[in-house]
Amino acid sequence: MNMLDSTAQDEFVVFHDEEVALPVPDDVPAWKVLVLDDDPEVHQATTFALRGLLVCGRPLALLHARSAGEAMACLAATADVAVIFLDVVMESHDSGLALVPRIRSELGLLETRIVLRTGQPGYAPALNVIRDYDINDYRTKSELTHTRLITTLTAAIRSYDQIRTLNEARRGLQMLADTGNELFIPRDSHSFAQAALGHMEGLFGHRVDAAFCGPVSGGSGDREQEALGILAATGVLSGLVGRGFDALGDQILAAALCKARAERAHVFDERSVCLYLGRVHGKEALVYLGLPGSKVGPLVRQLIEILCANLRVSFENVVLFERLHFFAYFDPLTKLPNRTRFLDRLDEGLAGFASESWTVGIIDIVRFSELNDALGHRSGDLLLTEVTSRLKARLGAEALVARVAGDAFGICWRPDNEEASAVLDVFSVPFVVRGHAVPMRARAGFANAASLPGGAVELLKRANLALSHAKLEGDQHWRFFNSEMEANTQSRVQLLNELRSALDLRKGLELHYQPQVSPRTGHIVGCEALIRWVKPQGESVAPDVFIPLAEYTGLIVEIGDWVFSEACRQIVQWDQSGLPAFRVGINISAAQFREADFVTKISSAIERSGVDPLRLELEITESVAMEDPDSVARQLRELKALGLKVAVDDFGCGFSSLGSLNRLPFDRIKIDRAFVRELTPSTSQDCIARLIVKLAKSLGLEVIAEGVETAEQARLLEDMGCKEMQGFLYGRPMSAYALEGWINRNRASQDEDRV
Ligand code: C2E
Ligand code: CA
Ligand code: CA
Repeated sequence: MNMLDSTAQDEFVVFHDEEVALPVPDDVPAWKVLVLDDDPEVHQATTFALRGLLVCGRPLALLHARSAGEAMACLAATADVAVIFLDVVMESHDSGLALVPRIRSELGLLETRIVLRTGQPGYAPALNVIRDYDINDYRTKSELTHTRLITTLTAAIRSYDQIRTLNEARRGLQMLADTGNELFIPRDSHSFAQAALGHMEGLFGHRVDAAFCGPVSGGSGDREQEALGILAATGVLSGLVGRGFDALGDQILAAALCKARAERAHVFDERSVCLYLGRVHGKEALVYLGLPGSKVGPLVRQLIEILCANLRVSFENVVLFERLHFFAYFDPLTKLPNRTRFLDRLDEGLAGFASESWTVGIIDIVRFSELNDALGHRSGDLLLTEVTSRLKARLGAEALVARVAGDAFGICWRPDNEEASAVLDVFSVPFVVRGHAVPMRARAGFANAASLPGGAVELLKRANLALSHAKLEGDQHWRFFNSEMEANTQSRVQLLNELRSALDLRKGLELHYQPQVSPRTGHIVGCEALIRWVKPQGESVAPDVFIPLAEYTGLIVEIGDWVFSEACRQIVQWDQSGLPAFRVGINISAAQFREADFVTKISSAIERSGVDPLRLELEITESVAMEDPDSVARQLRELKALGLKVAVDDFGCGFSSLGSLNRLPFDRIKIDRAFVRELTPSTSQDCIARLIVKLAKSLGLEVIAEGVETAEQARLLEDMGCKEMQGFLYGRPMSAYALEGWINRNRASQDEDRV
């Protein structure tokens, strides 16, 4: 705040340094007071009267201007002027007064206090001027005797200081409110660390010397302590980024971090602050702020603490995201990439693989589940870990090894001068588990890693097809893919023709409905419409078989149209028979979103049936959302504008970008039944279902669990905060008529309970 630097001000600003001989420390800022008067005597008298004065412990710095023009220039060039003594009558009888609106609106100085002074008692400004322009005080010059002047000035400065503090707090709080949203966006510790420091600087309004200390590895996190390091740093500390916690050269910084970490609490020092953000799944985060020259006042301290509370929540979210990311891409047992990650890596490498005779394989362990049952899961786990290390050692560092299913490994490597099948000799030596030798066998399917139109998915299909031939033809444990294997599609074509005619004739296709309940009340909250197909001969075909086929050929679009209209029709019919209103979930395939008129078709089906759109919920899988996120997001917004709800189906398996949860307007997450199946009291503390419930909560989404089969699963899920369930425990998918009966029976038994 060195105003003496500015030459522009020298013309009109006179500092009476020699008169202000104050025993005040240098770094205490002075209150800036502008005296505007065309009478030189007033300047002298004011300077004299205020000499040596301290207001709230701070000295004064007087600025002087002799005309409205000088005053405007001075105010434009000087920040933080606390008070203006303003002469009303200068060039004209109200030129001083006319300056007030310019100060307020042109210069935007709303905090500066203005004291009007006039020589003539008769020129008192009208009350409304005082009110409209926020004028602090009005005095005749003769009233401004020594004491009067000082009390007036002191009151004005106090009020200026108060307004400043309030506004600063408001700005700080606004910034904090904004960071609350922004901080949630980073998905990994590093970008979170950077964002956090950015917000620290935002809070101070200038560059600060800060360091963010957090977990160096992403991944799942575990109960033990994870290694800490400097993830981001600013100012003089920038050089520390990447340094490990134990190797910090800066002694002051290291000591402060150690203290906060040991006490698990913030440490406020004279010139530094060390914030402890908490500990989640063994991961800790701390922020060090060096504040040379600026003492941490109570307001700043309060704001830092609020920001810190936001950071703490965001940090938890970041760890949560990293864990989910890990579970979405890696197998926690073997730490190998999972199927999703394997496909991604294959896609990334395909162009290069083709030229260099890379081979893709799937290795399936024979009768693994029997081994698992016979020896126990712990031994099964050990076997899988052992297979992993043998495969890695056999194939070398550049090979890709993944766990693509419970008992299957995906590999991609260059066999060089040997047969691909040679890899199976990792199974030639028995495995040793807990002192027992366990012989294991495996089958494999291989395919050339060529670029195919369908990418890695198609490639894996080829290897799978080869594998299924190896399984069918018992003579050999492995097969290499050839194009004849694909010819076997004859039966699929047949099935497709039958499906086509079922759709055309409106015969054999039916919707079943599975109840969704609130376990607390036992009431139905909704149901899911699930398609059923029974062939004319009475043989029923599972949707898992014909839906993928219909998706592959595009027939799903017509099937989807039929499903949607049929569900609408059914809701209206239920309403007419007096059933309570509940929502109905309808599965939508990716292909339907690809149709340009999808939204129009939906809205006209709604109109035709007369159904209340609030009753409808679309279920889409993560992969639909990923295909073309922008277009899907746009369509979903249009559908939501009609009143429909949207749920993410099968959530948790292979989500490629958790970011879309934020970008797409979902209402509900459906926890996939794979995560419900693995629930037991011993796993429930640290399971994916719990992570998903937490994630949903932090995003403000509803959550429902699918595939609930046992009362224990229901209880564990309810304990986690999951309020809606669907599964065989409550009811299987059933005809519309049967559901009506189910609801009525359910109602009747509740009425009985009440009696
Ligand atoms: P989904 O959307 O995940 O549907 C839930 C599936 O879980 C249904 O299988 C249901 O019968 C089954 N299920 C429900 N509760 C339990 C339980 O407690 N335990 C177990 N083990 N399973 C349970 P479903 O009816 O065979 O449907 C399979 C898939 O077919 C559906 O999975 C969905 O992806 C697809 N599908 C079904 N109907 C339609 C439809 O109308 N349109 C589209 N596009 N896809 C559909
Ligand atoms: Ca579904
Ligand atoms: Ca599902």
